[in-house]
Amino acid sequence: MKRIAILGSTGSIGVNALNVAREMPEHFQVVGLAAHSDLDGLARQAHDFSPKLVSLFDAEAAARLKTRVNGGARHLAPGVEGLVEMASHPDVDVVLTSLVGGVGFAPLLAALRAGKTVALANKEPMVMAGAQFMREAQRWEARIIPVDSEPSAIFQCVQGHRPGKAAGDLSAFIKRVFLTASGGAFYRHKGSLEKVTVAQALKHPTWSMGRKITIDCATLMNKGFEAIEIMNLFSLKREQVEIVIHPQSVIHSGVEFSDGSVLAQMSPPDMRLPIQYAMTYPERTIRVIEPLDLFKVGELTFRRPDFRRFPCLALATAAAKTGGGMPAVLNASDEVAVERFVAGRIRFTDIARVVERTMKAYKPSGGLPTFGEVVEIDQWARRKAEEVCEELS
Ligand code: MG
Repeated sequence: MKRIAILGSTGSIGVNALNVAREMPEHFQVVGLAAHSDLDGLARQAHDFSPKLVSLFDAEAAARLKTRVNGGARHLAPGVEGLVEMASHPDVDVVLTSLVGGVGFAPLLAALRAGKTVALANKEPMVMAGAQFMREAQRWEARIIPVDSEPSAIFQCVQGHRPGKAAGDLSAFIKRVFLTASGGAFYRHKGSLEKVTVAQALKHPTWSMGRKITIDCATLMNKGFEAIEIMNLFSLKREQVEIVIHPQSVIHSGVEFSDGSVLAQMSPPDMRLPIQYAMTYPERTIRVIEPLDLFKVGELTFRRPDFRRFPCLALATAAAKTGGGMPAVLNASDEVAVERFVAGRIRFTDIARVVERTMKAYKPSGGLPTFGEVVEIDQWARRKAEEVCEELS
């Protein structure tokens, strides 16, 4: 029996994780549930799963939660403080982090320092300081298991494989990874993207997800983030990550090994599978998703991404190559720009402009920044990106 805490329990990953836990009651005990501000959602989940710990990020909603959830549940402080306490609580074995954006930074650090197994869906902290988090995990004997479908696919493909002597060093053992992308809302869109609406950008062709990530999929920034996350998770160089547009979303990514063999992981596009795998790892258990029907899929196709039409992908690649604090600047400026776009303040194509101008204004100090420095870079980049948004709106 694994004791699990879900940070971001009312979002699409959190809801799916609870669906998995519901199907496998003998495997999981849900001990902690944290959400942003969805009072009704969290109250319902707490009623169903009777967690020991609950937390709402929003202080006002958190105060109201006390009248809705009583019994044995302890109410943790609102804001990051409650998330940090839940992530490092001694009664928790597995922490599923499905928070949105940079807010997951401190809870991830707390979970790793407490030696937890982290099922990681919140990719932004791994973009901001992935190498530093990996080092921290090693130091505290914590584990990071990716939940996002693509890094999960790669993680699944490398299980049980070890470099032989002839493979050379560890980085040569994985020759390349194929990081697949659905292409987002505008893969088939003809003409300029200058005037596309928020509603159009929120229509993802294959996955149903939260707003931030769906917009990131439409700009392909999400794929740029995933490339950085994968570099950090598997100690790869950016050149070793080949991004492939694969609109069917059946192959979730693959690995080319030193001997030229390519293994890929396939399944219907259903997030419950990678969530379940991260929760049950290293075991494979029952099937929760529909089986894959290859005859219904028919064809699998692959295309190169268009870096000019989707400049966020080029910016993410540049940030990955520069390294240091630049990925944190990329992440912060994107978060600000996406918020402004969703609020109708800037255009879709301004998202890349905001990121580019913020990146240009950043003067890297060289070397890998400490966690404290990353937080400072993040705050600086948010302020700078706000300024750029003002210029554009
Ligand atoms: Mg993904």
